Amino acid sequence: MNGTAVFLVLCFGLTCRLAAHGPGKDSDFAGRRVLFIGVDGCRADALQAAMERGLAPQLKMMCESEAGLFTRKLYAGGELGAPTHQPTVSGPGWSSLLTGVWANQHGVTNNRFIGARFQTYAHFMRRIKEVQPHAFCASFADWPPIHDFIADGSRLGDVEFLDVKFTRAPDAARHFVDNPEKDIEVRDAAIETLKGGNPDVMFVYFGQVDEVGHGAIDSRASFSPDSTLYLNAISHVDSHIGELLRAMRARPKFKEENWLVLITTDHGGRGNSHGGDSDEERNIWLAANGARLAREKLQNQPTPQTALVPMIYEHLGIQSRPEWTPAPPPVAEKSAPAPAK
Ligand SMILES: [Zn+2]
Repeated sequence: MNGTAVFLVLCFGLTCRLAAHGPGKDSDFAGRRVLFIGVDGCRADALQAAMERGLAPQLKMMCESEAGLFTRKLYAGGELGAPTHQPTVSGPGWSSLLTGVWANQHGVTNNRFIGARFQTYAHFMRRIKEVQPHAFCASFADWPPIHDFIADGSRLGDVEFLDVKFTRAPDAARHFVDNPEKDIEVRDAAIETLKGGNPDVMFVYFGQVDEVGHGAIDSRASFSPDSTLYLNAISHVDSHIGELLRAMRARPKFKEENWLVLITTDHGGRGNSHGGDSDEERNIWLAANGARLAREKLQNQPTPQTALVPMIYEHLGIQSRPEWTPAPPPVAEKSAPAPAK
């Protein structure tokens, strides 16, 4: 390749990137953007208690603002007595939240991810990249399977679809005591991208609420609205969410941008565990902010956690394709129990 050709290739690449990735309306989606935040193991009645007691002011303020919404009508765990039924643990839960299908399709029934079918039922950001190859997709998490299994399992060959993949693993040997610190690293990395980049879609995952509920960090805590330690963990994450929202609103052309904010959890819990079919484990919540949310429906009708991915596609103006969610294969065999999260 001669000098002129190199120059042309560089210019072309640069032009495409700038055109696709400016602030404001300068994007493949005319400025429509998504901030999807995951709070692991955050029980719905505990979050509500935290908001009522002034311990989650950031979420409360966002939900009570004009375009805001809070609903406890969301559910995890699939349909009881149906092939979609799945345990209320993180592996299947985050797989459902990130692919938009239940375990009878994504194949994940525990935290070992054996039998996962992410090549067929892929992470929603891979689908976005199929439609808009220049979209900027960023993911931040301190539970490594989010990236190691769900994202990497969705990759086509070696083709990376995440423009930012930020992973911080809490120290299992130290009983996850450093999970709150890892959440801060996740928060800061996500703020960096909101400030310095032009993300079209972001996923940001915080792990400490679940670890506190399990009693991993302090054995006096539990998944309960009556556990002060558990509510305090929710409060810490609420302040992280507040900082993310501030960074989003401080973007140079924020007023021209159209952000959909979705915040949810993968499951609830009772005592120091989860995985079963109780209301405390299955009933979850959605905190959202967006101009075109189906407010009535979300506040009044039970909504599966698989409904969030279609909401993201709709906001971005992406038409879901039938080949993204083919009919489920025959029921798979059960695999061995796996560690909780
Ligand atoms: Zn979980």
